[in-house]
Amino acid sequence: MNLPIYLDNNATTPMDPRVLEAMLPYFVEKFGNAASRNHSFGWVAEEAVDYAREQVAKLIGADAKEIIFTSGATEANNLALKGVFEMYASKGNHIITCTTEHKAVLDACKHIEKMGGQVTYLEVKSDGLIDLGELENAITDKTVLISIMYGNNEIGVIQPVREISAIARKHGVLFFTDGTQAVGKVPVDVIADGIDLMSFSGHKMYGPKGVGVLYVRRKNPRVKVTAQMDGGGHERGMRSGTLNVPGIVGLGKACELCMNEMESEGTRLSAMRDRLEAALMQVEEAYVNGNREHRLPHTTNISFKYVEGEGLMMGFNKNIALSSGSACTSASLEPSYVLKALGLGDDLAHSSLRFGLGRFTTDEQIDFTINAITTSVLKLREMSPLWEMYKEGVDIDAIEWAHH
Ligand SMILES: *Cc1c(COP(=O)(O)O)cnc(C)c1O
Repeated sequence: MNLPIYLDNNATTPMDPRVLEAMLPYFVEKFGNAASRNHSFGWVAEEAVDYAREQVAKLIGADAKEIIFTSGATEANNLALKGVFEMYASKGNHIITCTTEHKAVLDACKHIEKMGGQVTYLEVKSDGLIDLGELENAITDKTVLISIMYGNNEIGVIQPVREISAIARKHGVLFFTDGTQAVGKVPVDVIADGIDLMSFSGHKMYGPKGVGVLYVRRKNPRVKVTAQMDGGGHERGMRSGTLNVPGIVGLGKACELCMNEMESEGTRLSAMRDRLEAALMQVEEAYVNGNREHRLPHTTNISFKYVEGEGLMMGFNKNIALSSGSACTSASLEPSYVLKALGLGDDLAHSSLRFGLGRFTTDEQIDFTINAITTSVLKLREMSPLWEMYKEGVDIDAIEWAHH
């Protein structure tokens, strides 16, 4: 077995070699601009993009015309939120989202607030799911959009998307979902799920980086977004810029592979994840964060009380690559805002590890990981005065620390 082991597939996935193979002809040999209508170089590129658009649409039950290619999910999230906010300004200026969204949603919402918009940030329950009653109560006659993610990148919980869309429908409000962690991993169907707009990204599903999608519904209702980039009017006027043909071809192939392999991969990954989780729960004072029933098959997030996540990582990060808290926030050493939103204290949030399994994860790697993490936790606790106090029966949560 080769080291290090990669267990950070929620941050990015390695590209599947079959995706690379599909992309290769489109760099040198078939390099045309898909918008060149006057010659075969352009036609060849356009044909490849059309084919990829079909592959992408099929995975989510959409029509190819509803697929807008972007540079990734961050751009797609910005386009959905700002694009709807601008397009539907005459109807209202209110957006509803929740506190555990990806930063690409939260920061776009902050921007919208600066532009005069109103945003409601719903809190989540201790299992990470939103409260549907609170969602419905938050809707006003100025609400234009509900933005709730499909699957969470840190804890993997899957929101009740169908119930959310039914509420949105009932009130004539559009529903956007960040599908980046869910698309290709679990069945997502824009019709059955009642989704009006959805973002996702190539590099979270074994495709290339720098390419993503915004799905924009074309009927029942017909949804429009104001372009955030002005230029040649590509992508039905919603996203200008020369198309990233090799990237789009790769994303199409990635979608096809996910479609064919989703069911068997889902079963394989959830079995491996459950085995990892069950073994790590043998460690005393270990807690799984977030709802364990409604969640992605490849993710678990576990807090090991009385050890510090960063210290824990030092014990094994030469051999195992994973995240403590979110990849995006771990640089700041702030405890994860997602875990804090579940009601975890700083200590439990800091002591968490996110395991993101993927297509290339093996049982052997899981065995190694179980062993390495268990050893690391036990070793750190052996040196921890807090752990010693806990074992002596001191109620640590009740202690008032001097610096508070
Ligand atoms: C990774 C991620 C994004 C950002 O996607 P990029 O394509 O890297 O811009 C957005 N939302 C979620 C839930 C993600 O996991």
